[in-house]
Amino acid sequence: MKSTKPHVALLASPGMGHLIPVLELGKRLVVQHEFHVTIFVVATDTTTVESHLRNLPNPKLLNVVSLPPVDISGLVDPDASIVTKIIVMMRQTLPALRSAIISTTRQLRPTALVVDLFGSEAMAIADEFEMLKYVFIASNAWFLSATAYFPTINKRLEEEHINEKKPLMIPGCKPVRFEDTLEAFLDPKDQVYVEYLRLGVEIPTADGILINTWEDLEPTTLAAMRDTTSLGRVTKVPVYPIGPLVRPVMQVRPAPVQEDSVVGWLEKQPSESVMYVSFGSGGTLSFNQMIELAWGLELSQQRFVWVVRPPMDDDASGAFFKVDSNGSDGTPNYLPDGFLTRTSDKGLVVPMWAPQAEILSHPSIGGFLTHCGWNSTMESVMNGVPMIAWPLYAEQKMNATMLTEELGVAIRSKEFSTTPIVEREEIERMVRKIMVDKEGDGIKSRVKELKYSAHKALSIVGSSYNSLSKVAKDCETSLQGQLSKARG
Ligand code: UDP
Repeated sequence: MKSTKPHVALLASPGMGHLIPVLELGKRLVVQHEFHVTIFVVATDTTTVESHLRNLPNPKLLNVVSLPPVDISGLVDPDASIVTKIIVMMRQTLPALRSAIISTTRQLRPTALVVDLFGSEAMAIADEFEMLKYVFIASNAWFLSATAYFPTINKRLEEEHINEKKPLMIPGCKPVRFEDTLEAFLDPKDQVYVEYLRLGVEIPTADGILINTWEDLEPTTLAAMRDTTSLGRVTKVPVYPIGPLVRPVMQVRPAPVQEDSVVGWLEKQPSESVMYVSFGSGGTLSFNQMIELAWGLELSQQRFVWVVRPPMDDDASGAFFKVDSNGSDGTPNYLPDGFLTRTSDKGLVVPMWAPQAEILSHPSIGGFLTHCGWNSTMESVMNGVPMIAWPLYAEQKMNATMLTEELGVAIRSKEFSTTPIVEREEIERMVRKIMVDKEGDGIKSRVKELKYSAHKALSIVGSSYNSLSKVAKDCETSLQGQLSKARG
């Protein structure tokens, strides 16, 4: 491979929520900067990369390498959190990543390694091969501020947060309320707590942090991270807001659309009339909550597309690593008796997995009941779709708070904090508020403004385009250094 353009290696940790934005980042480096990109994917039984590799730009420049699956069964408690499992998997993958980088080195040594948050230990490999190293946060700057600040929180503050349930104060940033906090912060004896401390220590050793956000979405948090006068600044590493990284919205739908597909069904519905309901790649509800949600949708009398998966009473991330993006044809038998028949003229139930990017970009969609995973959130904003926030795990409660209280583009039930179950009447009320009531108009217009702001950030004169160009420039300068060193 003879080229004067840098080669950048990207490492994605398992889970579609990590893989999808890393693929988009790789595509941007190819399309905007004509870089060579190799994306290393940590394979799991359910990480079906193939469906996301269609329509890749310039396959000569973008290469995807699946690293061999690793067995972590003897290394981690089966009941450990999903984050712990992902981190242990990433650790076990390091030797394979190192060998893979050595083999790409025979063509053109990567100039930079970009790892997502849970792969930060791989930055040691970048050091070994004298590569630039970047951490990519597939979430927002507020989440980064909490994670990067965590190791510097002293015992007293920790006790105040965990025991007295006081907010976590982060210099210059919004405090994190106890109700919104990350599970990882709550139990110092849990492995995930120790791993998070390590992440917080490792992030600042990067040459830069890329974040899936944009300047105008989080101006205060980003300013706090760059405030050189603040002694307690959460990180001194340059931050690059490069988002939103979402799969591109198709302007023209390919014809013909399959009649029996979800998009085929959406084609027959009026504009902005359908509520899309989905809990991401891993989210699950309890049995009783599923029943209430089904009734709530039915009582609302609104059209809906609902991605359903078997209920789990004790694990809100119960489908993680269990759902694959090839979907499933099974008929869901855990829904209320007669629900499918009674709602057949208004609703479509899709088992396990749906083509979310296509759904959210369809003009028939008028609302999104979402678990507030950051990719889902960004996809909704990019399409100007107002949300009902239904956070389940990870940083989703922080995201829900940002969407409802700060950006005003979503509503959220008060019942989340007071009762274990959100009841059908409350769900009916929220769906109608977004889809029917005049009250929802403010939310709709704010999300449309945010859509405009996101598209502007990505445009050739926009802040995110500019941020990624700065990273690209650093890679180019580093490559020139490598080349002149090689020439002696
Ligand atoms: N997704 C999808 N179909 C589904 C569920 C999820 O295409 O049925 C995609 C969704 O569009 C998003 C990603 O999977 O890009 C999920 O990422 P997110 O950050 O929203 O949530 P996570 O799954 O990581 O909790």
